[in-house]
Amino acid sequence: MSLDLPVFRYHPDPLTSGSIRESAETCACCNRATGWIYTATFYTAHEVSGGLCPWCIADGSAAERFAGEFTDSYGLADVSEEILHEVTRRTPGFHAWQDPHWLVHCHDAAAFIGEIGYTELAAHPEALDQLRQDLRTGGWHDAAQLEQFLSHLGEGASAMLFRCTVCGTRLAYADAS
Ligand SMILES: [Zn+2]
Ligand SMILES: [Zn+2]
Repeated sequence: MSLDLPVFRYHPDPLTSGSIRESAETCACCNRATGWIYTATFYTAHEVSGGLCPWCIADGSAAERFAGEFTDSYGLADVSEEILHEVTRRTPGFHAWQDPHWLVHCHDAAAFIGEIGYTELAAHPEALDQLRQDLRTGGWHDAAQLEQFLSHLGEGASAMLFRCTVCGTRLAYADAS
């Protein structure tokens, strides 16, 4: 078993997040069985017969060959085109109920850490506060209901945790079925 997977600046641990897993499957792009296969979203109009390996994600060949993207560009309006393309074309996406999207901090895309519940989110108070603020801004005015929702994250709805690649601040958004 080899652990020398490509380095993904915006998704540093795709094994823990579940986006890449060990597999004997052959990559639909390079036709090699690398031992690892991508399991999350890939948006393309082309027929892709099978999974993709982490290397074809990292070097952009899968996105180029199938004219596809791993993540929607929603939320990435404030970053350079270079960063946008690194996230959408050369970074593994992740599993979510709604279309997954990326968070931005310090004018750079943040690094996706994983799906978490309330206990883990509460360990990062700045992320909890920011999520509470975002939900209020988004129209959630009943404070008691909002706290109820937050404290039950991990049961049905969950939080997607990111870390700013520049300052290290944790950020989150809520994902619900
Ligand atoms: Zn490949
Ligand atoms: Zn930051």
